[in-house]
Amino acid sequence: MQEIAGTFNYFEGYTGLKHEILHRGPLRDLLIASLNENTVVWNSKFTELKQNGSGWDLVFENGTTAYADLVIGSDGANSKVRKYITDIERTYSGLTIVEGNIYNAAVNAPHLWALISGGKIFAHWNSKTILLSAKGEGSLSFYTITEEPDEWTKTSRIDFSNKEAVFTWFKQRFSDWSNDWHEIFSTDESYFVSRPQYYFSQDQSWQTIANLTMIGDAAHQTPPSGDGVNQAMLDALELYEALFSEEFTTVHEALASFEEKMLARTSVATEEALALNWNG
Ligand SMILES: Cc1cc2nc3c(=O)[nH]c(=O)nc-3n(C[C@H](O)[C@H](O)[C@H](O)COP(=O)(O)OP(=O)(O)OC[C@H]3O[C@@H](n4cnc5c(N)ncnc54)[C@H](O)[C@@H]3O)c2cc1C
Repeated sequence: MQEIAGTFNYFEGYTGLKHEILHRGPLRDLLIASLNENTVVWNSKFTELKQNGSGWDLVFENGTTAYADLVIGSDGANSKVRKYITDIERTYSGLTIVEGNIYNAAVNAPHLWALISGGKIFAHWNSKTILLSAKGEGSLSFYTITEEPDEWTKTSRIDFSNKEAVFTWFKQRFSDWSNDWHEIFSTDESYFVSRPQYYFSQDQSWQTIANLTMIGDAAHQTPPSGDGVNQAMLDALELYEALFSEEFTTVHEALASFEEKMLARTSVATEEALALNWNG
């Protein structure tokens, strides 16, 4: 089997986990292959939940619906399930990621590709950060992390679908960095997207609902810290353990216990992420 884990050195003194899955595609394929056929229904964008007796009807954009007696929202940072559980809003962290990807990087960004040598680079200087990662299928993923005002993605008027526009911003914003990074913009086989980083406060909590919960970024987000996937995977494991534990006589009790532990654990992760100093 292809090796899927690699080491990743993060901030000095950071207490989070220091291993990272470099080849996420193969891991995803491995996990999906372990499921019964048709467990995953693709191309079904969830839009709405409707109560139906003691369960829920899930409504999808393609016109289909599905009934579930228990719904677990794991639909990420812009979750559409979350609002059925809590109205707690997220806060802008002050940091925005400009994410990009270069396909066939050995050809399209040969110097940076040689530099990362199948691994990962974390470069931080003068309050700005660049991360480069090799992906299993030969592309190079990268992102910048910079302090930008709230709504900068819109107010900067940068067209992130236009490579030249992003390059113009990059040259100005990273003018005190080496030109070696400009190779990121030397190919058209790439894409860019701006992702403002939000977080939920460390003391968030809600009343557990008997047949509806959420995990991962839908439930908790921190400012960038490289820990979101670890937390999301732990959520999935601990929710499974709670639901199958003989300790609880109802699903409601299991969900209440799970959510209490999840919120306590991710509160610490949020504290740690908020304590990271991006201004160095
Ligand atoms: C640029 C960037 C870099 C990051 N780097 C790291 C890192 O190095 N290490 C780390 O640990 N974390 C990292 N994170 C954070 C990490 O990606 C998240 O914490 C993690 O992916 C959360 O997992 P999740 O399953 O909750 O959500 P996601 O991985 O976002 O998965 C949500 C899924 O739900 C689907 N979905 C969303 N809405 C709907 C809908 N309406 N209907 C149907 N499906 C829907 C999406 O298509 C997606 O497949 C990074 C985040 C970003 C933006």
